[in-house]
This record gives sequence, structure tokens and C-alpha cells, in this order.
Amino acid sequence: MASAAAISNADKDALLKRIEELEDDKAKLQAELKGDDLRVRGVNGRVRTDWTKEEIQAVYEKPLIDLVFDAAMIHRLYFSSREIMRSTLISYKSGGCSENCGYCSQSQHHKTFVKPTPAMQIEEVLEAARRAKAAGSARFCMGSAWRSVGKKHAFKRILELVKEINGMGMEVCTTLGMLTPEQAKQLKEAGLTAYNHNLDTSREYYPKVVTTRSYDDRLDTVKNVREAGISVCCGGIVGLGEEEDDRVGLLHQLATLTEHPESVPINALVPVAGTPLGDKLIAEGKAPQWDEMVRMIATARIVMPRSMVRLSAGRMEFPMAAQGLMFMAGANSIFTGDKLLTTPNPAFSEDDRMFEILGLVGKAPHTAPLKSPYSADDDVADAADAARAAQPGPRFVDIQVNKSSSKLETSL
Ligand code: SF4
Repeated sequence: MASAAAISNADKDALLKRIEELEDDKAKLQAELKGDDLRVRGVNGRVRTDWTKEEIQAVYEKPLIDLVFDAAMIHRLYFSSREIMRSTLISYKSGGCSENCGYCSQSQHHKTFVKPTPAMQIEEVLEAARRAKAAGSARFCMGSAWRSVGKKHAFKRILELVKEINGMGMEVCTTLGMLTPEQAKQLKEAGLTAYNHNLDTSREYYPKVVTTRSYDDRLDTVKNVREAGISVCCGGIVGLGEEEDDRVGLLHQLATLTEHPESVPINALVPVAGTPLGDKLIAEGKAPQWDEMVRMIATARIVMPRSMVRLSAGRMEFPMAAQGLMFMAGANSIFTGDKLLTTPNPAFSEDDRMFEILGLVGKAPHTAPLKSPYSADDDVADAADAARAAQPGPRFVDIQVNKSSSKLETSL
């Protein structure tokens, strides 16, 4: 649409000057947008395992408002925006672990409130699973404070539990420490859906977190789980004293595995007195902030678009509005129940209220992500890019001065 109006000669010079300024602004904005194009290159919802660390860093460093927007769009390519899986995690065997993870209340290397306890009775676990199912949980997870699944008898009980809980129609997940290929195979045969084994942080920062087993030990277990055909649940923790570079490093490690983990838990450290990293965090008052979690979740969502991103430990510290932003940014699972292993977690009723207020619904067990809008080898226009282009963005008013007629002509 164009319009024309007579202007006085006196205003003409001022207008020309103003137009020059606007042209400058326009050039600057266009230069920025070019940068923007670079920033979003590759961020289109395609599942890639060839991310460079620099690419992930560029995603991670986006202005938070853009990052959440991009992640929210990509999330909607693969998942319903309202579906959040409720999972329940119990501590099947607490304390006395021989590993020295610097954040963990269950390590025998640290003096914490957790005392070693024997494994739960089978019926006790099954009752907890029934309660979790009745409260809307789609996945039931059992954690054991073990370096690895050592004793045959203990493993047999786990296999029995997996079979029983699988029979209840819930997804079953365990986290039992390091696994051999043979143990992974047996868990698969018993009906295990997923196995959790976190990398915790970047390879570089890892030795500051734990020294009793290596990063590669962890990757070996992840590989054994994958090869047995069990879903991989593997993520990390924010708040270990790591730099942002380590957070990007962790996401890079996960996003460049041969296959992305089906589940990526993002935890905020809940500091426990008596643990080296918990004490450090308390002394320095550097608890993970909501925006750090949003950034981490959104980046995970973008670089691993078909994975469940699980907002895990530390939820108690974040108000509902902040959690809402995390769901917006692509988190689609939470742990419910008033305890997460040994640390506090919101009660079932509080989460019910949050679901009602935010309009969330529970995600059913065994529901796969939506089909990719991209086929393996197509060059179909990027759906997310198209959606992005349709959004209101910066617009330029094209202003021309008709110098001969002293007319100012504008068009949108
Ligand atoms: S292996 Fe698990 S239970 Fe053991 S110290 Fe590390 S985090 Fe804690």
C-alpha cells in the first residue's frame, strides 16, 4: 500500500537525514538477521547426530525468548504440547554405594543423613507401583545405590519386579549402576522399557564429579543398554559447579551418540549436606536458577528433538510459572511423588493442581513420538522454518522520498 503527501521544503532536509538514519538502522538490522539465519541453521527439527559443539553452543546462547520459541516449535513437531508424562521413582535400595559421586547422598564416601538400608521387599515395591499407577504414573522407575548389578540373587529379584510391573501396563525403568551386555539382555527379556544411566556432565568436568569410574565406563553401559534393545535414559545435572561450556559439552556428547537417548533427564542439583558438591553449592549460594534450567531444557529439545526431555530433580525449587516455561521449552516428563530417591519432590496433589492450571494432560505409557515430518533423504521445506517465517517478525517500512516532487512515499 502506498501513500503520498505534500511536505514543505523546510522539512525535506530533516526527512532526508532521518531516512539516512533509518537506512543505517535497516542495514544494521539486516546484518543482525543474517546472523540470525546463521544461528538457526540446522535448527529445524531434523534428527541429527552430527552436531558440532559450536552449533550447539550457538543454540544454547540464543536470547532466551528466541530459544524458548524455537524449542517450543520443534517440540510440537514430535509431541503434543500438553502431554507430560508422569513417572514415579522409588529408591529400591538406598545408601552404602561404593562410588564417590560428589553430589550423591547415597555414597559411602560421604557423611549424609542417608543410612544404608536393605533392598525393599517385593510386595512393598509392587504396592508402590500400584499406587503410582492409580495416581496417573505412566512409568515406574526403581533406583538402587549400586556400583553395578553384582549379586545374582539381587538381580533375580529385579528381573522378577520388572516382569510384574511391566504386566501392570506401565513403562518400567531401572537405574542399577553399570550393566554388562548379558545383564542388559536379561532385563530386556524381563520386559524392561528403559534403563537410566546418566553422564552427569561434560567429559572434561567429569573427573571433578566422580573418580571411581570413568566417563567411558558410563558410555559402555549406555552402549550395552542400547544394544540390548532397551530405551536409553541418559542426561545430567545442572549445579555441580560446572561452567556453561560443560553444559554444552554434555548436550554435545548426548546429541552425537549413534542414536539419541530416548529420554534425557535434566536435573537441578538438590544440595545435600555432607556431599562435597552439595556443601560447595550451599557455601557459595549458587543454586541452579530457573532460567538456567529453561536454557538447558530448550537446547536439549532442539538438538534431540524426538527425545523425552525429563524435568527431574530439583523441581521443588521452581515455582509453577517457571516449570510452565520449562514445559513450553520442551520438557515433557516429570517425576511425581513426594520423594525423588532421597530428596523432596512435589506431592501428587500439587502436581494435579499444576496440571489443571497449565492445561496439561498425562502422557500415556508406550506412546512413541510423532512421525518425523522429514523423510530420511528429502529436501522438503523445513516445517519449523516455515512456521518461523509465518511469525510476526521485524518489518521494515520502505520509505522513499520523491526528490523531484518533494513527496514522501511509504509502503509496507
Ligand atoms: S553410583 Fe549412583 S548411588 Fe552410587 S554414588 Fe553415584 S549417584 Fe549415588
